[in-house]
Amino acid sequence: MGSIPSLTLNNGNTIPQFGFGVFQIDPADTVKATRLALEAGYRHIDTAQMYGNEREVGQAVAESDLDRSEVFITSKLNNGYHEPADARRAFDGTLEALGTDYVDLFLIHWPLPTRYGGDYVSTWNTLIEFYREGRARSIGVSNFQPHHLRRLHEETELPPAVNQIEVHPYFTQDDVRAFCREHQIAVEAWSPIGQGLVLDDPTIVSIARRLDKTPAQVVLRWHIQHDHIVFPKSVTPERIAENIDIFDFELSSQDSEAISALDRGQRTGPDPDTFDMIPE
Ligand code: NAD
Repeated sequence: MGSIPSLTLNNGNTIPQFGFGVFQIDPADTVKATRLALEAGYRHIDTAQMYGNEREVGQAVAESDLDRSEVFITSKLNNGYHEPADARRAFDGTLEALGTDYVDLFLIHWPLPTRYGGDYVSTWNTLIEFYREGRARSIGVSNFQPHHLRRLHEETELPPAVNQIEVHPYFTQDDVRAFCREHQIAVEAWSPIGQGLVLDDPTIVSIARRLDKTPAQVVLRWHIQHDHIVFPKSVTPERIAENIDIFDFELSSQDSEAISALDRGQRTGPDPDTFDMIPE
């Protein structure tokens, strides 16, 4: 297995380009799954207040042989906490649950433009406080469209280091990715294999057969070659090992372009312009 590359963010910090996502992993299974991932060589974990498993992620890191500094941990502000005072309380809760005094990356999970009077700018300014305090080494956003990002650029002092958005071969979001590239915002691709949706695609299956790789490996490799940061989710040991084993081969530009051409504008998740869910 080749080594995992790091990308340099617009604030000079580095981030492992590949990690482990824990969305929809039951808290009861999270310590085990995260430990399996760490043992398989993952050094980047993507959690969120909304996932309800930050405490278990922290426990898995603490119980491993690794130093805290060897694992990149991301969490995200839950949708109910966009008001600055709530965001501060929620962020304290994240650090307490993870059992750490800093996160490597903290994100606004959704822009919620129809809530809070559309004021995600104040929320972003609160994340800037966490960054200035050193309690979030980097800060970013998730599910932001170019028009949301533009407001942060125009109205605040610090641009996001990353934008975590849905990207996979059936939903390539070329416009959002181009905006991010132009503004030095790294793209993190969530649901990188479309929660399994793209794995039976004939183009992907045929490339995988020819290269003696699995469809998931081919799609994850496509992301890596597009400079996306990815963190596929699995609780199955074989898949956890399979997904990280993508650093000893390359897709030709022809194969890579054939995968990009599969885009059909098909989301697996909600539309950030209308999504307004606040968990109970
Ligand atoms: P994913 O694309 O990683 O797919 C996960 C599913 O695919 C798993 O449940 C498993 O059933 C299957 N799978 C995994 N590896 C496989 C393999 N090798 N072969 C066959 N099937 C396999 O989807 P995801 O979990 O939605 O996204 C990954 C991570 O992105 C999440 O865990 C989370 O950290 C993040 N995420 C963020 C947001 C956001 O709004 N910011 C939304 C969704 C996900």
